[in-house]
Amino acid sequence: MKGKVCYYYGKVSKPMELKKLKRPGFEEIVSCFDSDSGLKALIAIHNTRLGPALGGIRMFPYRSEDEALQDVTALAKAMTYKAAAAHLKLGGGKAVIFGDPLTQKSKPLLRAMGRFINELKGRYISAKDAGITTADLVEISQETQFVTGLPEASGGSGDPSPWTALGILEGIRASVRERLGRNDLTGLRVVIQGIGAVGFSLAELLHREKAKLILADVHRKALERAQQRLGAESVSAESVYSVEAEIFSPCALGGAINNQTVSKLRSPIIAGGANNQLADELRHDQELFQRGILYAPDYIVNAGGLINIYVQDILKEKDPMPWIKKIHETLLEVFSLSKERGIGTAQAANQMTEEILT
Ligand code: NAD
Repeated sequence: MKGKVCYYYGKVSKPMELKKLKRPGFEEIVSCFDSDSGLKALIAIHNTRLGPALGGIRMFPYRSEDEALQDVTALAKAMTYKAAAAHLKLGGGKAVIFGDPLTQKSKPLLRAMGRFINELKGRYISAKDAGITTADLVEISQETQFVTGLPEASGGSGDPSPWTALGILEGIRASVRERLGRNDLTGLRVVIQGIGAVGFSLAELLHREKAKLILADVHRKALERAQQRLGAESVSAESVYSVEAEIFSPCALGGAINNQTVSKLRSPIIAGGANNQLADELRHDQELFQRGILYAPDYIVNAGGLINIYVQDILKEKDPMPWIKKIHETLLEVFSLSKERGIGTAQAANQMTEEILT
């Protein structure tokens, strides 16, 4: 498989080197090397049974090709599940660029990424992920139409984070109804781990619902801003797990629930926006289930941003809220399946989603 000769910045560029890789369970994985720009990247398409594979582009200084392949395949598969569980006609895919986004990103590199995406002729549709900004997407979109989540000024649906937060709020409501038998959030204590784009938007929504916020972030300035704006309490990043509260909401990085933290948890509900919250899905799902802690599966709870992209950028409709509100109902179905089958909620969510995919 060879890329085409391209013309950019007035020069004739060398063809990109494209190679197909194989992984069981994946429809297509392609690697790209572009000697002109230095772009080294991978695109993984996990499953397109329900529609074209949509997923963000991540830029990260991977130490090896194996590490990048591991990341891109796990992320692409998670996108398949997220889209299917949200009833979207989309498949799962993801792209990764090798390199440090702070020092190795350049316009020619982003343009080359756009040409790489274009080679897949719409089977993969890109969006933003860690290390890639909306401004980068605008650059990529100079070379391909298969870009979503562009800034509103460029005709796109803009930052997905507030929509993600609205979906998490639905997830929290459903979990509170299930576990605490309540329909309102007044006075409930919610610990939010990570007050970034998603965590801060969620904190604002919960503040309006009169919940009592307890915030933690390793970034002191982000924490101070949130405390001042919302009059919330804060705790150190280390002690966040053992705070007594009704809801623990992981909104920072993946793997928050792991062998070191799982036994410290004191909240009866876990519902947050971070991807891949359970470090060992099977084991930690089971452990939470046995301890009576209700875990709201991450890819169901945090689908609001993807839903907004689908509704606004793909369907070209205005209002994603009816779709986002379905997160509530989907979660209640997951909880009921978990009780019926005597399995953890993550396993129940996977079984339910796999039925949609077959
Ligand atoms: P972000 O980078 O804006 O925010 C993350 C915040 O977490 C930062 O403020 C960071 O300082 C903080 N943090 C990092 N490590 C921490 C730790 N150990 N303890 C406490 N705080 C810590 O990212 P984001 O866009 O808000 O995304 C947050 C999570 O949600 C990620 O896991 C992301 O993959 C997931 N997610 C985001 C979206 C979206 O729409 N942005 C959609 C789905 C899933």
